[in-house]
Amino acid sequence: MLFGRKQRNPIKIADKGVVEWRYATCGYCSTGCALEIGINANGTPVATRGAAGADVNRGKLCIKGIFEHELFTSSGRGTVPLLRERRSAPLAPVTWDAALDRTASEIKRIQAVHGRDAFAVVSTGQLLTEEFYTLGKVVRGAIGTNNYDGNTTLCMASAVSGYKRSFGSDGPPGCYDDFEHTRCMLAVGSNLPEQHPVIYWRLKEAREKRHFPLIVVDPRVTMFAQMADIHLPVTPGTDVVLLNSLAHVILNEKLEDRNYINEHTSRSNDFEKNLEDFAPDKAAKVCGIDADTIRLVARTYAKAKAAMTIWTMGINQSTHGSDGVVAINNLNLITGNVGRPGGGGLSITGQCNAMGTREWSSCSGLPGYRLLEEPAHREEIARFWGIDPEFFPKKRGLAQTDIFPAIEAGQIKGLWLIATNPMTSMPNSARIRKMLEKLEILVVQDAYADVETVRYAHLYLPAAMWAEKEGCFTNTERRVNFVTKITEPPGDAKPDHWIFAELAKRFENGRKMKVPQTTAEAFEEMRVLSKGRLCDISGMTHARIKAEKGIQWPCPDGATTGAPRLYTDGHFRYADRKAKLITLPFEDNNERPDEAYPFWLNSGRVVEHFHTRTKTGKIGNLNKFSPTPYMEINPDAAQALGVEHMQYVRLVSRRGDAVVMAQLTHRVPRDMVFIPFHFHDCVNRLSLGLLDPYSRQPAFKQCAVRIEPVAQATAGRLNAAMRRF
Ligand code: SF4
Repeated sequence: MLFGRKQRNPIKIADKGVVEWRYATCGYCSTGCALEIGINANGTPVATRGAAGADVNRGKLCIKGIFEHELFTSSGRGTVPLLRERRSAPLAPVTWDAALDRTASEIKRIQAVHGRDAFAVVSTGQLLTEEFYTLGKVVRGAIGTNNYDGNTTLCMASAVSGYKRSFGSDGPPGCYDDFEHTRCMLAVGSNLPEQHPVIYWRLKEAREKRHFPLIVVDPRVTMFAQMADIHLPVTPGTDVVLLNSLAHVILNEKLEDRNYINEHTSRSNDFEKNLEDFAPDKAAKVCGIDADTIRLVARTYAKAKAAMTIWTMGINQSTHGSDGVVAINNLNLITGNVGRPGGGGLSITGQCNAMGTREWSSCSGLPGYRLLEEPAHREEIARFWGIDPEFFPKKRGLAQTDIFPAIEAGQIKGLWLIATNPMTSMPNSARIRKMLEKLEILVVQDAYADVETVRYAHLYLPAAMWAEKEGCFTNTERRVNFVTKITEPPGDAKPDHWIFAELAKRFENGRKMKVPQTTAEAFEEMRVLSKGRLCDISGMTHARIKAEKGIQWPCPDGATTGAPRLYTDGHFRYADRKAKLITLPFEDNNERPDEAYPFWLNSGRVVEHFHTRTKTGKIGNLNKFSPTPYMEINPDAAQALGVEHMQYVRLVSRRGDAVVMAQLTHRVPRDMVFIPFHFHDCVNRLSLGLLDPYSRQPAFKQCAVRIEPVAQATAGRLNAAMRRF
């Protein structure tokens, strides 16, 4: 007993009068924690607890999940459709029929005058998978625009692109169970304890049982880096140089798995020659990690019986994001780690159902990882949906990050945003504002009417959220889990699925096709279409998913369980069944600090908030712990500038400025500042967001800023005014 205390004094949880617990899957991050919402005798959700016996989280939840029941009564919810004729007029309530008629008529008007692709659709990673499938069916099959994407382009597009380039298909090969088997972990650009706390807990448990080397690559001394055996504080944007150099050492010292390379990979002739440019002594000068440490890490990784790499936005949000993912795949292919228990790669996804949109939304192709570029895939889906295959475009249209510039260029005239908030999430927000103001029609469909982007909307469609509906999410490790409907949406808000199905009726093809009227109907269509695909879910049913508290795909019809790993047989999705080892030259192509803007600006997530705070900004305890944006600055840099702890400063980039509160910490080096990305009118007033050439994902994490003093009282007032929730 500590300090001589004799009496046990356990924490007492207030009795909330729960009479029933209902099952759901967390609606925040992609960890995919299974939880239960406690309902009191009045039918009101009053508590949340982790679901025991669910493999992902085993009863645990993080601070966001534990308050999730409070979302049902959070402020700012939309309860009725709103419309205005001019953006200068106030939004006024209308009926659903009027709102959907106007949406359909505006889409048809714009398409008739400017062509089908002049109307764009940008969705999210927050809907149920069945809703993504139905949205894809409506957009691809009825509306027929090719400029359709998800906001997942801001977080996972580089992982998708890298998987496709290396393995011939999207789909994370690894799983959380790999933590129990690995002998070495390399974590690149992932602050797991803050971003995905429950995945981190799984990893920590595994390391406590059986210590294995943890190597964290991150420019900041993050919480994760502080727990690592080796921390590599890489120069921003140079991960590819470091990863290529690791591969160089492995090949140079003959530590590779030559049999695996010969049997399961193909490569261009210059693959090994290109790596000669990345000898550790040379690479060290670019990536900032000394040559001896590069050699040590390469040897540790290659000699481990099983070695795995996890990564998040530090890799993806870069002008080399896709190449970074390919470099990780290269590393795991040359060491024969792909498909091995405890080996290979696991991209840690952002949103709760970013995976569901990748698999089923048809954003970048057709459902079930099918491609628009494949005539057989167009034919198959058109036949299944009952439409003419010629209605489909023959290649993918614009990504989200190209849709906005196309508005600026006058090519796109109308936009439908679904559960996404570009006024806070997109880089260079001043430019985004001008683009939104240029639209002839902006329709925003969201659970919250006070989301910042609604200020620019002509039409607002109030949507049900998360467990006000019923269906599936897929988590980071390909686990499909279930969300039960816990409560009704407020007022006249409707499930996204209902909105899609009703809108479809207003289009000729939408009447011709059988659009699923429920998520259960949509799931049945997905099951049929998934047969034989990599993301095969034909062995799943809603009831089975719920009973087993989540099942990983592929799970073909008749399978007793889902597959924990992909590519265990060394067969990949290219025609020759081999993975590609891809040559990756490095070009330093991003903004860098200079005399005028001497600091790197880095950004990331804090544990209390999720994305643009649309939800977490309304939850008392989360907001209390993280109420305001701040800037981490090194104490030496602060002293040189005369900046004190907790003082407001003005950050200036070539795009704009932002006022933040300084937090002095050695987490960041002297030439870097860090700001959480969640807050409106903050980091994205500064960010540049150059795009990765393959994935079109923005380099949020690398640009240059300077720091200026600001009048404290004025800054305090401005800060409060800019963050009303
Ligand atoms: S770790 Fe992610 S999925 Fe789990 S409770 Fe927290 S936010 Fe939800």
